[in-house]
Amino acid sequence: LPHGRVYNFSAGPAILPVDVLERAQADLINWQGSGMSIMEMSHRGKEFESVIQKAEADLRQLLNIPKNYKVLFLQGGASTQFSMIPLNLTKQGDVVDYVITGAWSKKAKEEADKYCKVNVAAKGDNKSVPAPSTWKLSPDSKYVHYCDNETIGGVEFKSTPDVGDRVLISDMSSNFISKPIDVAKYGIIYAGAQKNVGPAGVTIVIVRDDLIGHCRPEAPVMLDYKIHVDNDSMYNTPPCWSIYICGLVFEKLLKAGGLTAMQKLNEQKAQILYDAIASSNGFYNSPVDPAVKSLMNVPFTIPSSADLEKAFIKEAEKAGMLQLKGHRSVGGMRASIYNAMPLEGVQKLATFMKEFQAKNQK
Ligand code: PLP
Repeated sequence: LPHGRVYNFSAGPAILPVDVLERAQADLINWQGSGMSIMEMSHRGKEFESVIQKAEADLRQLLNIPKNYKVLFLQGGASTQFSMIPLNLTKQGDVVDYVITGAWSKKAKEEADKYCKVNVAAKGDNKSVPAPSTWKLSPDSKYVHYCDNETIGGVEFKSTPDVGDRVLISDMSSNFISKPIDVAKYGIIYAGAQKNVGPAGVTIVIVRDDLIGHCRPEAPVMLDYKIHVDNDSMYNTPPCWSIYICGLVFEKLLKAGGLTAMQKLNEQKAQILYDAIASSNGFYNSPVDPAVKSLMNVPFTIPSSADLEKAFIKEAEKAGMLQLKGHRSVGGMRASIYNAMPLEGVQKLATFMKEFQAKNQK
């Protein structure tokens, strides 16, 4: 691969498109003749203003974000949203609904426990998702929170759950901009950038206007959506470099046909791996219900031998495919194949899987 790079299947921080990195490299020392890097210039200057405004405009176009939604570029990771959401949308004693489908939605729920009464409306088994029609939503909940793609379990919702006129909130950290989404069905969508968008350090929050301006007065100022809205995401110094890279990625995706084209490619890539698992006659196993298999994170095991799993990871590494070790809570392997993973990387992994099986199957 160019620049001596490898195929990196990390769940995050994940790979960026190589042409984006090349452009960033050229801009690194002197951005567009300004004599400065984006990392060095005032976030209040016209140069950076043009960067953040274009990033927002391009994201709005990519996701077709309605006018009554604000786009925020915040810090603190998706994990900070776990507390920001209840602090902005509830008062002490209010009831909220959480759907648990894996490790991340569980963490979000545990944070909300500190601030309000959490009703667990449904709980999955980390391999499937409970059908939205079975969710036991509370009659007076302030919102319903779920995770659209569980990064560790590899479990992904294939459509937006119907929660009637309730406020729906989704953690899309690991599948943000991997496919078109009807933003109007949501109250809030949030995502840490470091998986499918750009470098760690920026968290993108899309929030409907009527949900802004209700933060608890005792909450830290940095956790109030309204402060960030009123200051165009520049209440304090923003993560300029991360926002700039995200902007390059948005621009690239728009040029490449937007999210419909991206979804098609992501489906093609995921299918190659799931087919490789399915056609292995049990040598490889995917624990996930076929109806909700993630397009982004593909966990799989070699049920016959933990030693073979270790050998698989080691040999794949030698062949230039890195970070395939499964999450410590699941074991086995996990291939994360976000937007920036080229088709060729997935094809190479599928070929490697077949060869490894042929060599090692007793
Ligand atoms: N939500 C999901 C689905 C994730 O995959 C992650 C990180 O892996 C997080 C939340 C936490 O994100 P951050 O590290 O940006 O706080």
